[in-house]
Amino acid sequence: MYSLKGHKVKKKSASKFDEVEYPLMEDFYTIQGEGAHTGKPSYFIRLAGCDVQCWWCDVKDSWDESKHPRIKTREIVSRAVDSGATFAVITGGEPLLHNLEPLTVRLKENGLQVHIETSGSSPLSGHLDWITLSPKRFKKPLDEVFPYVDELKVVVLKNKDIEWAELNAEKCPGNTRLLLQPEWDTPSSVDLIVDYVKKNPEWGISLQTHKYLNVP
Ligand code: SF4
Repeated sequence: MYSLKGHKVKKKSASKFDEVEYPLMEDFYTIQGEGAHTGKPSYFIRLAGCDVQCWWCDVKDSWDESKHPRIKTREIVSRAVDSGATFAVITGGEPLLHNLEPLTVRLKENGLQVHIETSGSSPLSGHLDWITLSPKRFKKPLDEVFPYVDELKVVVLKNKDIEWAELNAEKCPGNTRLLLQPEWDTPSSVDLIVDYVKKNPEWGISLQTHKYLNVP
């Protein structure tokens, strides 16, 4: 778990945090479709803005944060609480482009566990119960992120992505869940991953089950 050292939440700062705005592309209650928490009902908060810009990105609409409304923390948290979810997943875009302290503190105060999916290419912020690092060669993760990684999930198109996965795994804590995920539009990556995981059982496979099941 990552948490700002020595931070204590005060009532006064909580009300101030409620006023902080984030560019929000979408938020919705769904089932986590991939990674170590696959199958868990989760409230997804997709913040806009990304400076990584992977060519195969399936949420390119998230890149330009100016195209999306700025929503107050109070409103986002209230929608998450009303959904009945016990997990919030903050994703993007690249969510660490924003200071996550206000949003994560208020989510946690309201009883939600906070997970994040990040490329790790911007500094950590906020209070995070689970960090999924999905490193991208286009903008590498910062060294300061690695000690806090709970799950390393690498999207694979070709062999060199597996080499990239191993390079990142070397920097993660020993108990990190190691997952390779086929790129959805590159079916040939499946054989590559299956073969690799059979020979290297410390790795597992993450599938985008929400796409197979058509869960939004
Ligand atoms: S880091 Fe994520 S949101 Fe940004 S371009 Fe890559 S896949 Fe898309």
